[in-house]
Amino acid sequence: MTHALQSYSEGHWQDGTGEQRPLLDAATGGVVATIPTRGADTKTMLEHARTVGGPALRALTFRQRAAILKALAKDLSGHLDELIALSTRTGATRRDTAVDVDGGIGTLAMYASKAARELPDSTVLLDGEIEPLGKGGTFAGQHIYSSKLGAAVQINAFNFPVWGMLEKFAPAFLAGMASVVKPASQTAYLTELTVRLMIGSGLLPEGSLSLLSAGPGDLIDHLTSQDTLGFTGSAATALALRTHPVIAGRSVAFNAEADSLNCSILGQDVSDVDPEFSLFVDQLITEMTVKAGQKCTAIRRAFVPAPLCDAVADALVGRLAKVVIGHPADTRVELGALASLAQRDEVRTAVARLITVARPIFGDTTKVDVVGADPETGAFLSPVLLCSDDVFAAPVHEVEPFGPVSTLLPYRNVGELTDATALGDGSLVGSIVSADATIVSDLITRLAPWHGRLLVLNTADAAESTGHGVAMPQMLHGGPGRAGSGEELGGLRALHHYMQRTAIQGHPELLQTFAITKPAPA
Ligand code: NAP
Repeated sequence: MTHALQSYSEGHWQDGTGEQRPLLDAATGGVVATIPTRGADTKTMLEHARTVGGPALRALTFRQRAAILKALAKDLSGHLDELIALSTRTGATRRDTAVDVDGGIGTLAMYASKAARELPDSTVLLDGEIEPLGKGGTFAGQHIYSSKLGAAVQINAFNFPVWGMLEKFAPAFLAGMASVVKPASQTAYLTELTVRLMIGSGLLPEGSLSLLSAGPGDLIDHLTSQDTLGFTGSAATALALRTHPVIAGRSVAFNAEADSLNCSILGQDVSDVDPEFSLFVDQLITEMTVKAGQKCTAIRRAFVPAPLCDAVADALVGRLAKVVIGHPADTRVELGALASLAQRDEVRTAVARLITVARPIFGDTTKVDVVGADPETGAFLSPVLLCSDDVFAAPVHEVEPFGPVSTLLPYRNVGELTDATALGDGSLVGSIVSADATIVSDLITRLAPWHGRLLVLNTADAAESTGHGVAMPQMLHGGPGRAGSGEELGGLRALHHYMQRTAIQGHPELLQTFAITKPAPA
């Protein structure tokens, strides 16, 4: 019998109501699960998180919360096989699952160890030192962060059903807020399994995690000023939420991670025999194929010095021709399926728009050879490489093909490059592939205002580089403008989204009572 997804609220699993929509295996088209139109009552779910989960978490110190997260990461690691098997049904190869599932558990573990090392054994965070405010020494100020009293609502995208949840859950949990998770419908079955394992571990305080396995319903209507909303998804939904009367009217703390047209730049110092040339090509192939290009951080715009464009194109075509596409469980496969047939249609539409200004160099969205699967019933797509001779052609900087698609853009000088990259209107990440320190530092200065993260790649760091597309929990994930103007991860600063900063003013002796919450010197 097909599994009907359930929501978790008020300490038990609950059936949804309304129509049950089938969720299909990305590679075979078989039904994996069904998702109801409506899940558990959202008003009650939020209230339970606020009145049961939040207080239970705030009764624990940061270090006690960290110890739970550490144990949880260990427990989840013991269920990897189960998670990998279900992740395959989203179209993910083992390499793709490593980013989502292993990466999600790793993020949990990193937050746990960082918090255990760096946070005090208390419930309040100090921000800065005591500031004298009076000449006589009897009046001073101290900023503190304390946990918000509401629910931490998290709406996630389909492409990272595990990592997308855990990278928000971990800092919220540490900050003392109970999470209410709403996964994207398409891959909600993998989030549901992960939540079942988390709840089943018995490690989480009651009410600290709820799950809405359904459409959003009236979830947003019940938010209050002490709640927070973390969103990952399309720019269109981010805009709808940002301008929602409840979010705007009640000043609900809102963080958005939206789509972006990330770039990779080959420096003008590089020739086709330099190692950086190969590093640029390798990285672009990785970003086009991992998660079938369904990464918010994937490289959509590849800027190359105009004289090198043909050489880069030839090298990429040679590599793309060898990419094995097919059933994600087949160990030969390097490029699995997109999450759904609907997603494939969206990418086809996006490529059709790009082709109005860019010529195809490799791949055709209507033809694909696959191993171990049927190309019609599975959401398979050939990688597509395009080239736009007009570096300023608008669609290349506006249309996000959320699949294995990238466009080469030959640039003639740094001024042209700077202006063209800015047309993306804000990105999560950009790469600079160059061995010339002067070129690199000039580009960092030019590009930083438009980016949340910049990765410099050359032979000096390549062996250890975590790569363009990987959002490391220690570093900021987010970006200005089109990327949503939000900030996630970036170490323990991520906790601030879930806490209120307050300036406490009074006698320094009173302020010292907060100072004792600092961690004891090691
Ligand atoms: P989406 O259509 O915007 O959906 C994202 C989430 O929002 C889903 O959970 C969806 O639920 C929910 N949602 C849709 N309309 C809503 C509404 N009116 N109120 C409340 N929730 C609503 O995006 P997607 O297609 O799942 O994700 C793909 C996009 O996400 C890509 O453009 C990608 O670039 C971006 N992305 C960004 C990041 C990042 O970190 N910046 C990471 C991953 C993906 P349903 O599924 O139930 O409709």
